[in-house]
Amino acid sequence: MYWADLLAEEIKEKYKAQIKAGKPLVIRDEKTASGRVHVGSLRGVAIHGIISEILKEEGINNKFLYEINDFDPMDSIPVYLDREKFLPHMGKPLCNIFSPDGKAKNYAEYFAEEFIGVINEIGFEPEFYRNSELYKSGKYNEAIKIVLENTGKIREIYKTVSGSIKPEDWLPLQVVCENCGKIGTTKVVSFDGEKVEYICEPELVEWTTGCGHKGKISPFNGNAKLPWKVEWAAKFFILNVDIEGAGKDHSTKGGSRDIADAICREIFKREPPFNIPYEFFHVAGKKMSASKGEGSSSREIADLFPPEILRLLLLGKHYKQVIDFVPDGDTVPILFDRFDELAENYFKNIQNGYKRLFELIFSPEKRKKIKEKFLPRFSQIAFLVQMPHMDLVKEVEKMKAAPLTEEDRAEIDLRIKYAKRWLNLYAPEDYKYELQEEKIPEPAKKINQKQREALKDLLEYVKSQEFLDGQTLHTKIHEIKERLKIEPREFFSAIYLSFLGKESGPKAGWFLSILDKKFLEKRLAEVIEESGCSTR
Ligand SMILES: [Zn+2]
Repeated sequence: MYWADLLAEEIKEKYKAQIKAGKPLVIRDEKTASGRVHVGSLRGVAIHGIISEILKEEGINNKFLYEINDFDPMDSIPVYLDREKFLPHMGKPLCNIFSPDGKAKNYAEYFAEEFIGVINEIGFEPEFYRNSELYKSGKYNEAIKIVLENTGKIREIYKTVSGSIKPEDWLPLQVVCENCGKIGTTKVVSFDGEKVEYICEPELVEWTTGCGHKGKISPFNGNAKLPWKVEWAAKFFILNVDIEGAGKDHSTKGGSRDIADAICREIFKREPPFNIPYEFFHVAGKKMSASKGEGSSSREIADLFPPEILRLLLLGKHYKQVIDFVPDGDTVPILFDRFDELAENYFKNIQNGYKRLFELIFSPEKRKKIKEKFLPRFSQIAFLVQMPHMDLVKEVEKMKAAPLTEEDRAEIDLRIKYAKRWLNLYAPEDYKYELQEEKIPEPAKKINQKQREALKDLLEYVKSQEFLDGQTLHTKIHEIKERLKIEPREFFSAIYLSFLGKESGPKAGWFLSILDKKFLEKRLAEVIEESGCSTR
C-alpha cells in the first residue's frame, strides 16, 4: 500500500469518533516567511496536501490550513538583500518590515507570494492564513492568558522533556516594543492579569540591540507573541489541529515537538495532533550555493519541471526516506524517466503501488482525466534540441512509429522547454553534445585495432541497409560486439568519439539512426581509414 494511504488509514482509526460525528479534521503546516523559501519546505506541503486529498477522496471532511508565519522577528538578512537597508529593521516582526521590491504589502508577503504561487501551481490548495492576523484578531488572547498563568508548569515541562532550565523569573512572551518596534529584544518581567511590564533589552540577543525602553501594555490583540515552542502548542489548541507532521529535526526525543506536545497536553488540556515525522530534502550540486541562497528555492526548482514531475519528486519517496536532489547531476532526466515508467505501468493497468502513486502525482482536478500520450525520453529530447539541423518532431514521430496526436505534440513542446532550461542552467557536461560535422574529432583517430574492426562491421551493415532503424541497429551493434568479443564500453566510445568527440552519448542504436545516412557512412569510413595510420 502507498505510504500516504497507510497514513490515512491510521488517521481514520485515530479519529474514528470525530469523523463519525461529522466534525472536519484539521490538517496544518507552516513556513516562516523570512526569505526565499527553500524547496525542502514543499515536502511538508506535499505530505499534508496529499493526506488532505486522500481523505477528501474518501469523503472525509477536512481542512488543510497553511500558515505564513509573518510575526517572527527578522533575525538574519538573506545575502541577496541589501544589508545596509535592512539592518535597522532586525528584530522587528517580519510583517512590519517593508517589502524588498517595494510592491508587496510587506517583507513577509513578498516571499510568501512566490511560495504560495508554487504551492498552487503543483495543485495543492490549502487555506492560507497569517500568524500576525491570528494575534491581531485576538485568537491568541486566551492562550496567552493561560500561558502567563502557568509559567511555573511550562518551565517544569522544558526541564523534564528537554533538560533545558529556564530562569525563575522567565515569562514566555515577547512584546512589540512601543518605542522601537522590535519584538526580538523585549523581555517581559511581570503580568498582573491584564497588562505586562517589559524592557527592551540592549543585549538580549546578539543579532540586534534593543532600545532600552521600559513599558507596560496589554499582551493581547497583537501586542505580543509567544516563544515558538509554546506558540506551536497554542496553535494546536486555538486551531484544533488534528494532523500536523514536522521535519525530523523537530521530532527528535526531547526536541521542540515533544515540548509542544507536552504543553498542548498539560497546559491546554488537549491531545496533540497526529505527527508525521518526515525526513530531509537535500539539494546539492556544484552550481548550488546554500550560502548565497542560489538554485534551491522552491521557485527555482519548480521551474525545472512540469507540476506532475515536481509532485513525483516530493511524493515518490516514503516520508521516512531522505530526498536527495542534484540538479546538475542526472536527477532531472531520471525523474522524467521515472514518470514515464509510472505512466507505462498505469496505462498497462498493472495493479501495484506505482499505479496509485501515478494517480496521486496529478492534482485532484487532473486526476479525473489522465490521458495517455506518447512520452519521448527526456534525455533524447535533451539531445535532439542540441542538434539544430534535425527535425525534432519528425524524430519523435519515428520513435513512436505512428502519427503524433495533438497531446503528443503538446508533450514534446513541454519537454523541449524543460530540456532547454535544464541544459542552460544545470546539465552536466555528459549531457552536452555538439555533432562534429566538419571534421573527424582528434580522439577518434586514436581508436585501437579492435574498435576499428567493430566500426568496419558496422559500416558494412549500414551500407547494406536502405533505411536505418534504431532498434535493429541496436541489435546489430550487440551482434558485432559478441562476434568480435569487444568490450561494450570500447565499442560505444568508438562510435561516440567518431561523431561527438566524446566517450559517451545517447543510446547508440537510436543515435546512429537519426544521423544522415550519407554522413554516417562517410564519417565511419574516414575514421576507419585515419585511425589505421596510427600504430597501436
Ligand atoms: Zn525598543
